[in-house]
Amino acid sequence: MSTNVISGNGNQDVKLPIYMDNHATTRTDPRVLEEMLPYFTEKFGNAASRNHEFGWVAEQAVEQARERIAKLIGATAKEIIFTSGATESDNLAIKGVAEMYKEKGNHIITQAIEHKAVLDTCKRLEKYGFRVTYLPVQKDGRIDLDDLKRSMDDKTILVTIMAANNEIGVLQPIREIGALCHERGVLFHTDAVQAIGKVPFNVIQDNVDLASITAHKLYGPKGVGALYVRRKNPRVQLVAQIDGGGHERGMRSGTLNVPGIVGLGKACEIATNGMAEEAKKLAALRDRLKDAIMGQLDEVYINGSVEHRLPGNLNISFAYVEGESLLMGINDIAVSSGSACTSATLEPSYVLKAGRRRRPGAQLHSVRHRPLQHRSRSGLRGRARGGHGEAPARIVAVVRDGERRNRFDEGPVGG
Ligand code: PLP
Repeated sequence: MSTNVISGNGNQDVKLPIYMDNHATTRTDPRVLEEMLPYFTEKFGNAASRNHEFGWVAEQAVEQARERIAKLIGATAKEIIFTSGATESDNLAIKGVAEMYKEKGNHIITQAIEHKAVLDTCKRLEKYGFRVTYLPVQKDGRIDLDDLKRSMDDKTILVTIMAANNEIGVLQPIREIGALCHERGVLFHTDAVQAIGKVPFNVIQDNVDLASITAHKLYGPKGVGALYVRRKNPRVQLVAQIDGGGHERGMRSGTLNVPGIVGLGKACEIATNGMAEEAKKLAALRDRLKDAIMGQLDEVYINGSVEHRLPGNLNISFAYVEGESLLMGINDIAVSSGSACTSATLEPSYVLKAGRRRRPGAQLHSVRHRPLQHRSRSGLRGRARGGHGEAPARIVAVVRDGERRNRFDEGPVGG
């Protein structure tokens, strides 16, 4: 990737491009990489090799990682099952519960703004005779707990609701959702990939039975994740979705990705020790960016709850300016107008459509005024840090330009 250096605020040099798309993925922390490296070379053993030193060394590293992950989320090491990432964890949790408990019931509850790894898994189960309720979200992007209560019936076996949304950063009331599920004897799974390591998350206090984790959202490597599976009160059982050698206590066969697992463990350890301080810094950077943009432009709207939100997330809409042209105009700042998984389409984000209500006087239109989604998680580690000084000025200039053209050429589109 080519990099330019420009003079930023306070005479600091800013390297371009600036990465601000940390919901899509994060840069691997150098401390994580350093700890992983020996497991590609001299410590290359298979963690399932029981008869020699190479296997024992790998197994020890895997068990240490299990402990570190468990510590971050308040679990025990035995409750951590390694996977290839959150897509697999979501599939294993939802399909695994559906198959295991199908005699008890066939009803699953989720919500409209889940990641596709959850929504498409639920859709697949509908083809096999399961009934799925997709709860709507309110204007602030959160579900209504009364809707959840009303939709539970004696056939409900699972509720799957994410902890934090990957576009608008909104935190769902998972503790209350979990409590409701436990009262009714229903299992609660949460896709927690965007929350873990960024905000406090504890499987006991939050009444969670299954939780999906992925390393690459918390400064670990791509292609490795985990599923927390509760062992007590209640003991959750799953039908494995991958058959083979019976690894991971039969729940997920396949040779373990030892370097990746070591990386995930280290990333969790770093988060355990530094999360609180980092969250403060992130929130301050995010607010600085928000204030700079909102202080200079009219008709800028924040999507989703401001109060219940990840500290590093900013998701904003500009009236009169299409998200795509804005993104093109600031192509040396890496932001996005939707989830990386759906960025091939020009359709407005389904997450934003789900929570959108018209404001009096604001001519927001779901097609013409595509939102800029600015995930400001960057800037905390490494080069991007100085970038926040430069980003608002660039965004403001492009929005002003777009506004000028759109207001005079076409005017806002109603309807
Ligand atoms: N769930 C959420 C909320 C995500 O943001 C992502 C990331 O894209 C995933 C699941 C999928 O994770 P992975 O890339 O590890 O499969």
